[in-house]
Amino acid sequence: MRARTHFLTQLDNLWLRRTSTLRALVSPRGVGQPPKFSRTVRDRLIGEILEDATSVLINDHGHAAFTRVTSSRHLRQIRGRGLLERGRNLLSWADNELNGPIIYVFWRGRKCLYVGKSSSPRRLWDYEKSAYLIQATCLEVFHVPRVSELGEAECLATHLFGPRDQKIQPSREKWGKKCPICQRHDAIREELQALFRMK
Ligand SMILES: [Zn+2]
Repeated sequence: MRARTHFLTQLDNLWLRRTSTLRALVSPRGVGQPPKFSRTVRDRLIGEILEDATSVLINDHGHAAFTRVTSSRHLRQIRGRGLLERGRNLLSWADNELNGPIIYVFWRGRKCLYVGKSSSPRRLWDYEKSAYLIQATCLEVFHVPRVSELGEAECLATHLFGPRDQKIQPSREKWGKKCPICQRHDAIREELQALFRMK
């Protein structure tokens, strides 16, 4: 996996740059300057390392974590001519088939457009006249048995599906338990910032 290799390479790179002055104090510098270390370089490398680490975590644990907080899955093609008909078809299906807290995902073929959460399928009526009804080809719905895990489920779905229209940091909302990927991401960032602290 590219991200796994890149994570290790950039971590070594960060350490090499951080210690370049120390190395130069012991052994004379070779030809050319040692790689520069600055706040800009540090922040860029930490950003890349975090992005790679998150990709690895999602790949390794994302699906299992999402499966743990969701129960059943429903997929519905959005059919009909025009906004009103498509809305009516989809919402009457939702009223009949769904209940309880849900994560809903609008798809256009294999492209994820939007991930949302709600404590009730009634929320889908807010999309009665939404452009998603025209743009999307289907709606995927996952039941979340525990309402306290809705925030975590939404965050995991966002990591896994990479929606085109993404809300910023969904897990930052006060919605019960935090996402395990985001928790680990924050722990890695803290560790990196502690290791490569600058005055
Ligand atoms: Zn998350």
